[in-house]
Amino acid sequence: MIERLMGASDPEMLSKGVDEIGARPSGGAQPAPGFEVRSPADGSVVASLPDQGAEQVRAAVGRLRGNQPAWEALGPTGRGRWLGRLRDWLFDNDERVAELLQRETGKPWQEAILEVPVAIDLLEYYRKRAEKFLADSHPRPHNLLIASKKLTIAYRPYPVVGVICPWNNPVLLALADAVPALLAGAAVAIKPSELTPLTTLEIARGWREDVGAPGVLECLTGAGGTGAALVDVADFIQFTGSTRTGRKIAQRAAERLIPYSLELGGKDAMIVLADADLERAANAAVWGGMFNSGQTCTSVERVFVEEPVYDEFVELVAGRVRGLRQRAAGKRFDADIGSLSSQAQLAIVERHVSEALANGARALVGGKRADAPGAFFEPTVLVDVEQSMRCMREETFGPTLPVMKVKDAEEAIRFANDSRYGLSASVWTRDRARGEQVAGRLEVGAVNVNDMFVNAFAIGIPQGGWKESGVGARLGGAHGIRKYCRPQSVTATRLAPRSELLWYPYTALKGKLFLRVTRLLFARDLGRRLGRRRR
Ligand code: NAD
Repeated sequence: MIERLMGASDPEMLSKGVDEIGARPSGGAQPAPGFEVRSPADGSVVASLPDQGAEQVRAAVGRLRGNQPAWEALGPTGRGRWLGRLRDWLFDNDERVAELLQRETGKPWQEAILEVPVAIDLLEYYRKRAEKFLADSHPRPHNLLIASKKLTIAYRPYPVVGVICPWNNPVLLALADAVPALLAGAAVAIKPSELTPLTTLEIARGWREDVGAPGVLECLTGAGGTGAALVDVADFIQFTGSTRTGRKIAQRAAERLIPYSLELGGKDAMIVLADADLERAANAAVWGGMFNSGQTCTSVERVFVEEPVYDEFVELVAGRVRGLRQRAAGKRFDADIGSLSSQAQLAIVERHVSEALANGARALVGGKRADAPGAFFEPTVLVDVEQSMRCMREETFGPTLPVMKVKDAEEAIRFANDSRYGLSASVWTRDRARGEQVAGRLEVGAVNVNDMFVNAFAIGIPQGGWKESGVGARLGGAHGIRKYCRPQSVTATRLAPRSELLWYPYTALKGKLFLRVTRLLFARDLGRRLGRRRR
């Protein structure tokens, strides 16, 4: 595996920049300029990679631009064949990729091994439907002037799509955006997070060396500067990450007049109504809050529970959280929760929790960093929290569940909407119609009624944030692939007389005829149809 990780999109550059993973020389050789990837579970250095600058990014995008026309010319079926080979490669290498993922993220095995199959589901969804979603469409001419024209909408890809990723689900998010873009006919440069670039590098290497696919997929390593350099040269930016960075990308993209889609942070609310199935709701709260150590954009960030069931719900949740097993190593399904992805993330979680505790909240479970090396925070349940607390307003992105008692559903909706974010939410009630009604009043891009981020697996519906949680959306059936295309309108004339009604020479007859026909077709009453004007 160490050897394989050397492979990157620009072999020449990486051969200068990558040291052996986990085996960097302890003396003598100077480390190459770049950055280190560390395992957050124990702090050990896993790899050292080049921090690619503007020149290297430009060169990579230039290569992609050169290879893209032939890729587009393959058509959706031809491109789908290559993506099918990538699917096979992912099946053949799933455990290897998951091991690498575990090392760079600190995930427990169950969560590391999950990303590849979920990505394959998405890959197959778009591979099987690309032809249909990208097919030309022919709207009917709607008036006499264009009655004899053949109208066509064709979906032509942006030549180079830049995909910029965060560190929480490196395999899934890179593929979720790159696969539809590739199927659309674009070439793709992925800039993974500097904290978790190894799995993306390996997939790009597999695409190039093992699959032998065309050179339309590159992985660029580096920090924010590499991402910014990509925004400077790509034709479309698909970004997933923080609202702060999303804003910068939108500004630069606006200067360049290129389109973008931003999938940003959230502060997702879970609303538990008094008639909910409390066992199911408690199980969901714990999984939704703790999955990936709470580092999921749509994780449960705050819980509002109606007064009559608050005590019972809290007791159920606390009991389940106490039973969670926290560790992050090994290919065994005996851990529920791993480490956070970095020391920086650990510091954020610690700050949110300690400020809440200092201001009167109580931790029923956890409440502090774990007594272990690495970025571990104890799974935590907070009660007596206030709406004004940082843990209820800012994205914590950690294994914490702040639970708040509310008078009724109205108060829950008000608190849930009192946020600058609007990514997703969930509503829990035995009355599904009421759940859907509450959903309709929430200011978020997605709501699950009696379920926990199940919308993420429903590729046919869009995933996008409202308010400061995003612009645009990923997936959503045809939208998820067409967003990487520029619609091109073609009108072709079937009947071609020597001249047309609107062309020169202008004459009274032609001008009046045009006005008459419009009146006859669209005026509401007979008088106006006959040319009368009301004063
Ligand atoms: P981040 O914004 O710090 O970094 C994301 C990526 O942007 C990284 O690859 C980084 O190197 C790059 N970057 C940084 N500065 C840049 C710049 N100026 N120009 C271009 N690229 C730049 O975010 P993060 O900490 O890696 O990720 C966590 C965030 O991602 C959380 O807020 C989380 O909610 C969000 N997220 C959202 C979704 C979603 O679908 N809405 C999914 C997963 C994560």
